[in-house]
Amino acid sequence: MDGRAPLLRRTADLAIDYMSGLADRPVGRPVDLAALRSSLDVPLPARPMDPETVIADLAAGVAPGLVASAGPRYFGFVVGGGVPAALAADWLTSAWDQNAGLYALSPAAAVAEEIAGKWLIDLFGLPAGSSVGFVTGATMATFTALAAARHAVLERAGWSVEDDGLIGAPPISVVVGDEAHVTVFASLQMIGLGRARVHRVAADAQGRMRLGALRETLAKIDGPTIVAAQAGNVNTGAFDPLESIADAVSGRPNAWLHVDGAFGLWAAAVPELRDRVTGLAGADSWTTDAHKWLNVPYDSGIVITRHAAAHHAAMTLGASYYVETTGGERDPYNWVPESSRRARGFTIYAALRSLGRDGLADLIARCCGHARRMADALREAEGVTILNDVVLNQVLVRFAPRDNATSAEIDEFTRKVILAVQQDGTCWLGGTTWRGMGAMRVSVSNWSTTDADIDVSAKAILRCRAAVAAEAIPA
Ligand SMILES: *Cc1c(COP(=O)(O)O)cnc(C)c1O
Repeated sequence: MDGRAPLLRRTADLAIDYMSGLADRPVGRPVDLAALRSSLDVPLPARPMDPETVIADLAAGVAPGLVASAGPRYFGFVVGGGVPAALAADWLTSAWDQNAGLYALSPAAAVAEEIAGKWLIDLFGLPAGSSVGFVTGATMATFTALAAARHAVLERAGWSVEDDGLIGAPPISVVVGDEAHVTVFASLQMIGLGRARVHRVAADAQGRMRLGALRETLAKIDGPTIVAAQAGNVNTGAFDPLESIADAVSGRPNAWLHVDGAFGLWAAAVPELRDRVTGLAGADSWTTDAHKWLNVPYDSGIVITRHAAAHHAAMTLGASYYVETTGGERDPYNWVPESSRRARGFTIYAALRSLGRDGLADLIARCCGHARRMADALREAEGVTILNDVVLNQVLVRFAPRDNATSAEIDEFTRKVILAVQQDGTCWLGGTTWRGMGAMRVSVSNWSTTDADIDVSAKAILRCRAAVAAEAIPA
């Protein structure tokens, strides 16, 4: 095969070497930006270059700037790794190089999406026949869902937003929880509903939408309404009271309820966590990420809606009514904002099949157990406060330098501990502000994390805390 086989075999070795070292390398230590730039910033060659040299140089050049976020001790943001079958399927996805836009371009990609979508609907307990789109991430999933919502509520009001736009359209009231993720606002900004033109509903101490406040807000508005709730707060992991929210919204003549469950939706696939999302199926659309908790490689988000016709009308490149292709084939472009794109269904299919129902439930439950283990290990230490109820995989930690420290002193000390942990490299986690308080945020979302990873990480965090405390004492 024209010289490609040796290149690809060598490249597979490079990938395998990287992955074999992943668990042992420092996680996200600070990078020398200038050195990283200069190792890549060679003059663009005028003439072709040997691909093996290009790949070897690329791998060596980027190495200092790679973050071990796919490894077992990366607890920053909410980030998953790649289960083996998903990673392998991702390699094949590149080799197959299918265009997943049209059925005609890749019947295989179209059908893999169809089956993966059906499995996901079943796992999450959503209405059979819901429509699914495979997008880059939760941001585009929410964008797509809100565009479908926009279509539906305006169509009921006698307006075709796809044909006539928003100028002159009946106004839409958008209701979001105070703790909605920034990407919900980004989606509103992109679909012309305005990120500031929203009714914000107060949240409780865990970040859950307050039901009384929602009811008061809904009582004040009428006409087309879109409500965005959340399953899995990015700081606390908390869930909005979905059942009551769905009740409050479904009683209205023209309303659509969306649920952002970028990682929290996976709780629905776990018998012992399912009570967190009671009422989930009463919503109209859902966002989740496969590249977070399903542990497939980036980029992979999923949008699901109960209203296939609205979803189709909002996204299709063709007519704004629902068209079935002649033989009932599914054209993937009808359900996402893109036309040509990567065949994301293969990795999701492979991940779900390799884990199975029980393996998936175990992966999610295991991460939650790790989060509790981390919280318990840290909370025993002096001056440590866990700010949230650890109901999922998220832990918020605050470190006080001494008794009776002021809130500002605790913020400052916590910030220093986070920096020290990042320098240390045993694990990586970031900071956040929770209800005005600086905090360390721990998210456990990787399939390969073990109890031992949690123990060694908790020890490193406490060691860093002690080192920062020692420094703070004047000599
Ligand atoms: C991560 C996250 C998002 C954004 O997801 P992307 O995949 O980065 O687009 C949205 N909502 C919540 C709750 C999240 O945790």
